[in-house]
Amino acid sequence: MTDNLSGGCACGAVRYRLASRPMFVHCCHCHDCQRQTGTAFALNALIETDRVEILSGAPVPYAMPTDSGRPHNIYRCPSCQTAVWSEYGGLTKLRFVRVGTTLLPPDIHIYTRSKLPWVALPEGVPAFEAYYRSSEVWPAEALDRRRAIFG
Ligand SMILES: [Zn+2]
Ligand SMILES: [Zn+2]
Repeated sequence: MTDNLSGGCACGAVRYRLASRPMFVHCCHCHDCQRQTGTAFALNALIETDRVEILSGAPVPYAMPTDSGRPHNIYRCPSCQTAVWSEYGGLTKLRFVRVGTTLLPPDIHIYTRSKLPWVALPEGVPAFEAYYRSSEVWPAEALDRRRAIFG
């Protein structure tokens, strides 16, 4: 892999690197993501926790209120509070890394039922009104990786 998939927080204290490309990239238009980011949607790269190499700093988890009631921790830089990734449903082996890069465009748009009307979706990228079944959408290689961490 030649992509340098590294990132970090606004103040520079937290730096990390993804050891490989993610399994899948979500663009989520749900109300939780809108509230928690303060904007129209969130971009999340789904990747195995052990492929997120922390180069510096120590992101701290904060429990978020959710519409679904399922647990959601947002990991933030303790200095500048930038959100760097999330952990959903207590699934500690999977990270939802916040991304915004040409290297990782969304593979799917979800919760489009609450998408803002002035956000236009690209043709050819799957879009779902709510959530979806990964078994019906993800490529086989990504499903294999998912099975490897969840069985
Ligand atoms: Zn920071
Ligand atoms: Zn969301």
